Amino acid sequence: MISAPLRLRLDGAALADNWRQLDTASGSAACGAAVKADGYGLGAIAVVRRLAAAGCRDFFVATWAEAEHLAALGVSLSVLHGVRVEDMPLAISGMARPVLNTAAQVARWKAAGGGACDVMVDTGMNRLGLSIEEATSGLLDGLAIDTIMSHLACADVDGPMNARQCAAFSALKNRTSAQRMSLANSAGIALGKDYAFDLTRPGLALYGGIMRAAHERLIRQVAFPEAQILQRRRVAAGASIGYNATFTAAADTEVAILNIGYADGYWRGFSGVGMGHAGGCDLPVLGRVSMDLVAVCVDALPSLGEGDWVSLAFELPDAAARSGMSQYELLTGLGRRFDRLWLD
Ligand SMILES: *Cc1c(COP(=O)(O)O)cnc(C)c1O
Repeated sequence: MISAPLRLRLDGAALADNWRQLDTASGSAACGAAVKADGYGLGAIAVVRRLAAAGCRDFFVATWAEAEHLAALGVSLSVLHGVRVEDMPLAISGMARPVLNTAAQVARWKAAGGGACDVMVDTGMNRLGLSIEEATSGLLDGLAIDTIMSHLACADVDGPMNARQCAAFSALKNRTSAQRMSLANSAGIALGKDYAFDLTRPGLALYGGIMRAAHERLIRQVAFPEAQILQRRRVAAGASIGYNATFTAAADTEVAILNIGYADGYWRGFSGVGMGHAGGCDLPVLGRVSMDLVAVCVDALPSLGEGDWVSLAFELPDAAARSGMSQYELLTGLGRRFDRLWLD
């Protein structure tokens, strides 16, 4: 297959180390992995293979299409969005456990004689899940529940909501037939052992995202975008670069045009604030990011030219602050045009 002019270098050792750090931080609880949205944009099959080899046993996807994509790997999968009528033929095959979110989903699963399932309970986020009252009303009687779970709305910030949700969830201990309880996402793991229960469900931090200070020294960058130079040019003092001429050169400026743009997930928010790197030099983004192209200043590197590669700064907390996108959006936006190259 023809090679692409943009590539995503993926550090498999960092991915596995991030999982091990989160597993350790989860204490006696098992540590699973959220691999929805194609493993947060990195490629779910490669991510699951590596995490399973590291010892991860519980994987979470959003939809049945995502479960089907991973089915051949033979790992334990839970489908967070539950089961629609349309999902039942696949769901009943036992390829994954549905996370039942509503009374209608519970009824559908029971009526079909479904096997092991998970259950989501809402403890204040008001997104998916049964109410505590529903979960303790007898509605769940007769289900073979592996894991009962809830999701934290504010795990990345301090405030009263976390403890409130944790207490509401704790009150379900021994009140359902579930074998395990699970509450914490990545940031929730940093809230301490009270939040770990039996199983944690990190996503973002596996892939290098850092939402709590405690993770700064534990979590390493996994995804490194790089793009090839298509053209090098000299922009004369007073001339502009790119759409809407938002950058005007104060002096004659050496510029490289890179094969990456917002259609690849290098968002327009990086216009004028993104940073390239090559040969140990910083190469600032000049002007507006186009759909498929971006310009960087290469005054620092006279020898850099057509066909050479430039890496783009993508350390997630910093890249999110610069671009105005969330760390989640930066990862899940990484497009289909990259060659994804795993190191290790
Ligand atoms: C996405 C998701 C996770 C993982 O959250 P991160 O913040 O990425 O760690 C865990 N649980 C549920 C229910 C989710 O939807």
